Amino acid sequence: MNNAEQHDAFLDELGIGPVWKLRDSSASIATISHVAEIVPVPHVVMTVPAHIPVSDGLPRTLATDSLPNATTTLAPTATDMHQPISIVPATSIAVAEMDWTSLESTVAACRACQLCEGRANTVFGVGDQRAKWLFVGEGPGYQENLQGKPFVGPAGHLLDNILRALGMQRGENTYIANIVKCRPTDAQGKDRAPSPEEVAACLPYLKRQIALIQPEVIIALGKTAAVSLLDLNPETPVGQLRGKLHRYQSLPLVVTYHPAYLLRKPTEKSKTWEDLCLALRSM
Ligand code: SF4
Repeated sequence: MNNAEQHDAFLDELGIGPVWKLRDSSASIATISHVAEIVPVPHVVMTVPAHIPVSDGLPRTLATDSLPNATTTLAPTATDMHQPISIVPATSIAVAEMDWTSLESTVAACRACQLCEGRANTVFGVGDQRAKWLFVGEGPGYQENLQGKPFVGPAGHLLDNILRALGMQRGENTYIANIVKCRPTDAQGKDRAPSPEEVAACLPYLKRQIALIQPEVIIALGKTAAVSLLDLNPETPVGQLRGKLHRYQSLPLVVTYHPAYLLRKPTEKSKTWEDLCLALRSM
């Protein structure tokens, strides 16, 4: 496959194949300086590929601007299961020293916030524990809660296409996780954004995952992931955050749209492509 064909395949995977062209047709998509030269072709309608269902909900929007250390990690007893749940600031130091095995078992038993009450499964995360790319979403949805895996619904299908567009696949050099490990729902049982307290309770787990993985770049998918990891005002719009290189501690962090949002607004896929190019340049 020559470079032009490789480029077309890249964009087809992302569902924006008809929209882009290279100024320099000899450019390689893996060459950052050339990636930056990709420009949109005007007057071409962008579509979602037929194999991607367009049925997901609105992107979640809430996060916290203050993320104190918090969490508790003790396994529940039969008595505990009937106790009222509260946000429990506690053993973030213990979490920060856990290995993968103890971290995952601790999350599975966690009752540090009220999200444990409605969960079918915790959704710990999935992928290569030495991944260079870490993708962080907001929290589990309906399917994720049932299956115990992140991004397995329509938005997950699109994320898989994005990974393929980058020449990767789930589990190979990528890790996928969420800000909270249990599904947040509203009074009607629909997905909602996690509250600041829920984010604060759960974030030590993700921080420990990041410390263990030591990725070369973090992709924050949507506002909740971005403002939680960057400790920003929760009202900060994604539009203000994307297009720039941020830092989570010393690690490059790029903000882009949540795949669920892209399903609702496929014309924004081109911006996600720009954000991924920025991430590539940062590595
Ligand atoms: S969302 Fe996180 S902190 Fe809350 S119960 Fe689940 S694992 Fe624990």
